[in-house]
Parts: sequence; structure tokens; C-alpha cells
Amino acid sequence: AAKGGGRGQYRFFHIDLTDSAKHRRQIEEDLRDALEHGELKMFFQPIVDSKTHMLKSLEALMRWEHPDRGFIPPSQFIPVAEDLGIINGLGEWAIREVCRQAKEWPVELRVAVNVSAVQFARDDLPEIVKSILMETGFEAHRLELEITESVFLGDTDRTQAMFEELKQTGVRLALDDFGTGYSSLSYLQHAPFDKIKIDQSFVRGATEKGNNNPAIMSAIVSLAQSLNMETVAEGVETKDELNLVAERGASLVQGYIFSPAIPQEELLERLASGQLSYEPRGPDK
Ligand code: C2E
Ligand code: MG
Ligand code: MG
Ligand code: MG
Repeated sequence: AAKGGGRGQYRFFHIDLTDSAKHRRQIEEDLRDALEHGELKMFFQPIVDSKTHMLKSLEALMRWEHPDRGFIPPSQFIPVAEDLGIINGLGEWAIREVCRQAKEWPVELRVAVNVSAVQFARDDLPEIVKSILMETGFEAHRLELEITESVFLGDTDRTQAMFEELKQTGVRLALDDFGTGYSSLSYLQHAPFDKIKIDQSFVRGATEKGNNNPAIMSAIVSLAQSLNMETVAEGVETKDELNLVAERGASLVQGYIFSPAIPQEELLERLASGQLSYEPRGPDK
């Protein structure tokens, strides 16, 4: 599993080898067939205006419904797919599937798809995106690619060129899990992001007295504003957290307080019946 393909290699060090090698081997084997067997599905989580609570866009999240083992979360199978190099196939399928589905939505909302650092390491990513847009007829400006800071561990010139090529396709770029990647801020000098997603680790605990997270959040929001980028607070679960992130200036919110990721059918029902506004429903604290 150590090969992992190009810049994805660092992933290897995160794998806990004591964590049932057998279980992992089974996931490996099954994952190779999961796509063909139709076991993978894209779910969609609403991204909502922090003040008006209106639906603004969606993030597509992959789900694996294994016939024997039930639902396997992406945190367990995406790293495996990266190591096996099959993330490229899965990732391309995800973008195509999302464009195909979102093209049929009765409301022209934007949709985000996660792109792994391993996919980003492939020079043909912009070509793949372009051909999917052509083939599906989905409007480029409605597609957003979510990328994490880990892509900046690679060659700077290449990363730069990659961003430019992706922007040329007309898609939007979002920086996911911001603040968790151990990278310096210097990469922001030239990064053409449209959106910064504040990682949920900054939301957790933020409402406790004396916590540093609210200050960090304000700093991220003001950084984003001066760079002309929108901000999303991820993982908002309680009303207190919602109030706090809105007060700190994050214009968008994603979290269980509004909705988890839902299947396409459920989303379609909502969109078709014009339910575009959300009610915060969660604990106060
Ligand atoms: P992410 O891109 O940061 O996605 C947000 C994660 O936070 C999702 O987990 C979502 O279900 C979860 N989340 C949202 N609101 C809340 C909340 O209020 N509380 C808590 N505790 N969690 C919340 P999920 O779906 O398990 O995905 C995990 C990660 O797997 C994603 O993190 C992303 O990095 C990766 N992933 C998911 N789908 C894809 C995909 O299609 N392609 C690639 N390359 N990666 C994917
Ligand atoms: Mg994401
Ligand atoms: Mg995230
Ligand atoms: Mg994440």
C-alpha cells in the first residue's frame, strides 16, 4: 500500500497498521468492485446562509452502501482508494455523477465536489473536468471543486499552473478544512479560491468560555474578505454555534443544525416543493 501514486504518498503514514489489516484488505477488495456494483452514491449536504437560513448551495459527499457491512463512511474508504490509486476513477465518476444529477435540479444551485490531493496530482484533471462539463452540459460556474491545503505540499509552480487551468474551465474553487493543513499562508498569495471553508475543529468548543476559536474564526473571516473569498463554517451543530459563527461573520453555514447529507431523491422533493429555507433544528448548546 506504500506506493499510493505520486504526491499521495504522505497518506501512507496516517494509516494505522494495527487496525485490523484484514478488515482493510477486505475494504480494498470490495472497493474495486463497489462502483461497478452500484454501491457508491452521492449524497448532498445543504450550505445555508448564516443569517437568512436560505439554501445557497450543496456539497456532494460520497456514500458506500456495502451489501454485507452496511454503510461505510468516506473517512474509511477514501484513504484506501487513494492508496490503491483507484481514487482517480472514483473521483471522476463523482464529478460526472454530480454534474449529471445537478443538471436536472429544478433550481439552478451550485454544487461542490471534493477533489483528493491524489487526483490533483494528475495533470489531466482540468481535461477531465472540461470533458465532463461538455458531455453533461452542466454550467461550469455551478460546479465548485473543494481542495485541501495538502495540495500545497507539492511543487509550487505546478500547483499554480493547475489552479490556472482549472479556473480556465470556468469552475469555482474552494479551500476545504482551512487551518488544519500545517501549511504556511504564503500559498494564498496566488491561490484563486472563491471560498474558504473553516474546518469544524474551529467550531467545536467555540462557544465555551475562554476558547480561542472565536478569535481564530474572526481572523479567517477577515482574511477571506480581504481576499474576496466567501467563508463557510463547517460542522455547525447547535444554535449557540450558529449564532456564534454568524456573529463572527461567516456568511455560510454547513452542519447538522440545518441538515446532514441527504440522498438525491430527498433533495429533489425539497427543491420541487420550493422549500428553500431551513429551520435550525438542534440542541441550543
Ligand atoms: P469534508 O469535505 O470536509 O466534508 C464535510 C464532512 O463533515 C462530511 O463528512 C459531513 O458529513 C461532515 N459534517 C457535516 N456537518 C457536520 C456536523 O454538523 N457535525 C459533524 N460531526 N460532521 C458534519 P463525510 O461525508 O463523512 O466525509 C468525510 C470526508 O471524506 C470529506 O470531508 C471529504 O474529505 C471526503 N469525501 C467525501 N466525499 C468525497 C468524494 O466524493 N471525493 C473525495 N475525494 N473525498 C470525499
Ligand atoms: Mg469538502
Ligand atoms: Mg471540510
Ligand atoms: Mg475533511
